[in-house]
Amino acid sequence: MKLYCFGTGAGTEPIKERKHVSFALEINNQFYWFDAGEGCSYTASMMGVDLLKVKAIFISHSHMDHVGGLGNLLWNIRKNTLIGKGFPIAGQLDVYYPNQRSWDGLMMMLQETEGGFKLGYKMNASLIQDGIIYQDENIKVEANHNYHMQKEEPWTSYSFRITAENKVIIYSGDVDSYDDLIPFLRDGCDILMCETGHFNANVIADMVLANKYKVDKMYYIHCGNDILADKQRVLSRLSSYNIAIKITEDKEIIEII
Ligand SMILES: [Zn+2]
Repeated sequence: MKLYCFGTGAGTEPIKERKHVSFALEINNQFYWFDAGEGCSYTASMMGVDLLKVKAIFISHSHMDHVGGLGNLLWNIRKNTLIGKGFPIAGQLDVYYPNQRSWDGLMMMLQETEGGFKLGYKMNASLIQDGIIYQDENIKVEANHNYHMQKEEPWTSYSFRITAENKVIIYSGDVDSYDDLIPFLRDGCDILMCETGHFNANVIADMVLANKYKVDKMYYIHCGNDILADKQRVLSRLSSYNIAIKITEDKEIIEII
């Protein structure tokens, strides 16, 4: 299993080093895509990712730094089918989205593009709810609502627990506080991919250690001001922690073993 980081930044203005957040897991030559910040499909293509091997897309919430590249991703997948590169690997594309209104708006926009966005393959869009939302021979994805967007139902922002190749990966999405992750953290994980856009980088590590949650590694993504201001200072501050912490970078590919 490989982790492809397409964008590792928080919702900043355009900056040189980091685009908005997007990553995918490659398992058995298929890609499972999480969030779709600006330019994610362009970056992925330049990294050599075959967009027709995308099997499913999971969106944590509809803020622009998580969906700004989704229209282009869907458009580029269709484009590849039109220029004779074949069809999506599963014969269809599954998209899991947390907000019906936002999805309908995106579809309306795409339908006003070339060919009315008619597809030669199936695209199944599902509204995310708490619980197991996806399972195939490679991966299981569970969603749990968080309080980043609002404090009451209907929930429109989610964190994900991903199980693949006997590894458990928690992706925070954006959270109101890291307490939002307790339902997942209680069971522990191999990798916690946590946003660092709304908190200083040590806050989540402090919370994990204070509660003795079993977390093997932490990958910081959706990097915000603390890391952007001085990454080396953050790394040296975190070096005393008894936990493996990594700050992910755009265009990085990480083997997960
Ligand atoms: Zn964000």
